[in-house]
Formats: sequence, structure tokens, C-alpha cells
Amino acid sequence: MSADRAPLRRALERGEEEGGPIEFKTRLTRDTHLADGRMESLAAQLRHRVLSGDGEATYVVGVDDDGAIAGISPDAFSESMDVLSLLADEADAHIEDVETWGIDGGDGEGLVGVATLREGAMLDREDDEHVVVGTAGHVDHGKSTLVGTLVTGERDDGEGGTRSFLDVQPHEVERGLSADLSYAVYGFDDDGPVRMDNPHRKSDRARVVQEAERLVSFVDTVGHEPWLRTTIRGLVGQKLDYGLLAVAADDGPTKTTREHLGILLATELPTMVAITKTDAVSDERVEDVEDEVEAMLREVGETPLPVERHGIDAAIEEIGTVVPILRTSAVAGDGLDDLDTLFEALPKRESDADAPFRMYVDRSYNVTGVGAVASGTINAGSVEAGDELLLGPMADGSFRDVEVRSIEMHYHRVDQASAGRIVGIALKGVEESEIERGMALLPRDADPEPVREFEAEVVVLNHPTKIGDGYEPVVHLETVSEAAIFSPEGGRLLPGDNGNTTVRFKFRPYLVEEGQRFVFREGRSKGVGTVRSIDT
Ligand code: GDP
Ligand code: MG
Repeated sequence: MSADRAPLRRALERGEEEGGPIEFKTRLTRDTHLADGRMESLAAQLRHRVLSGDGEATYVVGVDDDGAIAGISPDAFSESMDVLSLLADEADAHIEDVETWGIDGGDGEGLVGVATLREGAMLDREDDEHVVVGTAGHVDHGKSTLVGTLVTGERDDGEGGTRSFLDVQPHEVERGLSADLSYAVYGFDDDGPVRMDNPHRKSDRARVVQEAERLVSFVDTVGHEPWLRTTIRGLVGQKLDYGLLAVAADDGPTKTTREHLGILLATELPTMVAITKTDAVSDERVEDVEDEVEAMLREVGETPLPVERHGIDAAIEEIGTVVPILRTSAVAGDGLDDLDTLFEALPKRESDADAPFRMYVDRSYNVTGVGAVASGTINAGSVEAGDELLLGPMADGSFRDVEVRSIEMHYHRVDQASAGRIVGIALKGVEESEIERGMALLPRDADPEPVREFEAEVVVLNHPTKIGDGYEPVVHLETVSEAAIFSPEGGRLLPGDNGNTTVRFKFRPYLVEEGQRFVFREGRSKGVGTVRSIDT
């Protein structure tokens, strides 16, 4: 839900006018608006609106013809956007952006939204021009501020001025996509960085996406203890290219810092550390904290590379085998040029676009007229409308035959999507209530094995004593979050040590493969692991 109502107010004030670029709709439905005859005339109307706006039209949905706000349910809004994207397709235009607002009062479910339509087909960027960075670190260590400063070029005031740009829920909330993560994006073209004036403004984001040749987006995970689950999902459930760990120069590394570092490394992310807030402490303190960070990295078997000593080019070249450490200040501006240089140069990690299709389901929802939709990030391969797939395992271990009705990416209907994309896949052959988080979608000929128990190698990051037989943490693997029982080899696992254990899901099987990484957690104890064998 967007906090800034200005775009809505502007559209409402300007109003619908003959020959103008603004159109009001209460809602659009498949049954009524895609019917023969009706669809053609609506597409013609849309084309007309786009042309009168010099290639850009605004559709306000959830209002009466006279502009009075009605508000429609999230499902009705989703369907309206589905229909609008089909109309746009027909009119050689695309939905560039959608903003929604909740209507106060009523049954609390009402939405009104503004869709911006643009002439021509949608821009589909090659994956290798878009790098995704996951941020981590102790709460208040300056993650949001650093990212806010990078994407806007605005210095922070030291009182959270820049961060406030980012700490809002993205509008995907209503669609059930990436609800817990805030996104920020900036880019680069031949002349250097392309930044946003105001990350709140969706049109600004669209401009950056349009102008930049290379995009860098940030998944700002939340470091606060109650949110650890979100953090884990942010790190493990998304296809990230790099990790950025913030360590405040005043506090230095904390327990949370160490845990987050462990998780970043467990997901095999090439990682960098930003020492933040260097303006707030003495030079000696910065040196000391850098020493502490170096020690912390060595403890977990990593090689630190302080950019202060070795330069940013060495960091670009060697990240992945070393962990670069940068000294930064969002207030004084230290280190920001180096970060720009780094993000402009870092290559996209190899994606598994040629592998067989696989997607772990993150959420499911129902769209009127479409039916069950499973959303998530495509782990590997690609998927097309019409593909015949397997969904499962179900609680009894079976896999269900399903068919891809349609694919949606951020309000755009697409014919095909590949690894790394966040998509909603509408499925034939299954009810929404049967789809659960943690299930996987696979090719029909995959012959998958449901796994109830597997052997793993684990590291206990934080536990007061030894972990014994019968230890019962929640295991987070891909989008699976499920209680499991550990039976360690030799009867125990010690904090800080590598060990082997059998892991048995308490309630039902999942799709698990050798080599997959996972995180486990029980109360305040946490650890990371790798699946070694599924033949137990
Ligand atoms: P997060 O919880 O890690 O996302 O931390 P925030 O970005 O919200 O920052 C927490 C507080 O630290 C805010 O009040 C910021 O203004 C402040 N802060 C962040 N970066 C800097 C910095 O470089 N220098 C100073 N002096 N303060 C900063
Ligand atoms: Mg934050």
C-alpha cells in the first residue's frame, strides 16, 4: 500500500475527459470485459487513451465513472489487472506500473489503484543485466540507510531520513508476492549511476528500469530477532547474486552479525561487508572494528580483503574467494563511490536457465476467473504457458498432474519465464486449498522422490550447550519451513563444530535434493546445513 496518495489525487482531480489519457473503471471482469465485441472496443479505447497521452495512459480502478472512490476487493483488483494486461496486449501497450491504496472504513478490504500504461511491448531485461543483492546485519546497523543513500544519491541525516524511503511495504502485498521484503533499485548507464529521486514513487522506479542498462536491486532483509524467519526466507527463498552485511562502526560485530554472516555463507553467496557509520566514531575505532570483522571472517574460514588497503579493483576481481570489507558512511559519503564501482562491475552469477524447470512454492492465492495461483521464485529452468507439470509432494507423498494456465510477472502476463524470476503461475488441475508452501513444481517427466528423512552436514551457529538426539528445530529449506527431528551421529553436535545428523521431517515429506542448503532454528539456537544424502 502506498503511503503517498498524490498520484491518486492528481488522477482523480484531473478526471476522465474525452480525448484525454485518463480512464476510470470500477472493475474489469473476464466474463464481461473479455467477451466478444466488448474486448475489441475496450482495447480500442485503451489505445486511444495511450495515444492521447503521448504514449502513456492512466487507468484508475476501484472508482465510479464520476471519480467517486468505491474500493474493490483484492481479488477483484487482481482480476481487473489481469483483464487490463490482456486489453493492453491487444492495444500494443503494457502495464508499466500499478500502485494501490487501501480504503479506510467499510469492510476494510477495499482497494483503489492507479495503473500506468505505456505504448509498446513490455521491457524484458536479460537476466545478466540485473544483479540482486541481499542485505543483512544487526538491526539499526544502517542497512536501509546505506541502500537508500545508494539508490537516491542523497546523504542521510543520521536520524533515519534516508531509510524512511525504504521501510514501507511494497504494493505486492495484495498479491501475496514478496510481502515481507522491501525492494530498492538503481542502475547504471554509460554515464554512470542512474538513481531515483524518490523510491516511493513507482514512476521513478520505472524510469530507472527504463533508462539504466544495468540494474542492481536490493532485498533489504530484516535483522530484528522476531523477524529472523523473514530474514531466512529473504536470503534463502530468493535467487540472490551477492550478500551485503552491514556492521556499524560504533557497535562492531554482534551475535546477530555472526549469525547473518553464517547464513550468507551457507547460501554460498559471494559476500561483502560494509562497516557503516564511520562518521560517528574515531579513526582508531574504525581500525579496531575492521580488525574485529577480519577476525570474525577468519573464524568461519573466509579470507578478508580490506578495500582500504587493497583497493576496489582487487575486491571486484576476487569477491567470492575473498570477502571485501568497505568503510562507509551514509552521512559523510565515505565508501559510496567504491560501492557504485563495485555494483557497476560485479557480474551476475550463473543462472540455471538451461536446467530442468523447478520452482518451490512460496505462496498460493486464488484469482477470480483464473483459479489457483502458485507464486515463488523460479529456481532453475524455464516455464511456458501450457506446460504440463507435477506439483507436490502432497502430504501422502504423491505428486499431482497440473497444467500451466498462465504466468504472471509483476502484473504482466508473460508467455515464458526463467530462473531467477518471481512469478505467479496459474494452475489447472488443483484447488488453491491443496497448494502449500514448500511444495515444488517440476516437469511432468521428472520422477521426483518425496523425502521424509535425509542425512546432512550441519554447523551449529549458536546454541548454549550440545545438541542431542531428538532435538527438534524448524528447518528452512528453499520455501519449506517445517519441524524436524535431528539424530546426530555419535549422539551430539557441538556449537561451532561441523557434524553429521539425520534430519526427519515431523509431519510430511518434501522435495529435497543433495547439495541443498538449509537453516535450522529452535528458540534462540540456530544453525546451517547441507543435504548430503536422501537415501536413508
Ligand atoms: P537498519 O535497521 O540496519 O536498516 O538501520 P537503519 O538504516 O534504519 O539505520 C539506523 C539508524 O542509524 C538511523 O537512525 C540512521 O539515520 C543511522 N545511520 C545509518 N547510517 C548512518 C551513517 O552512516 N552515519 C550515521 N551517523 N548514522 C547512520
Ligand atoms: Mg532497515
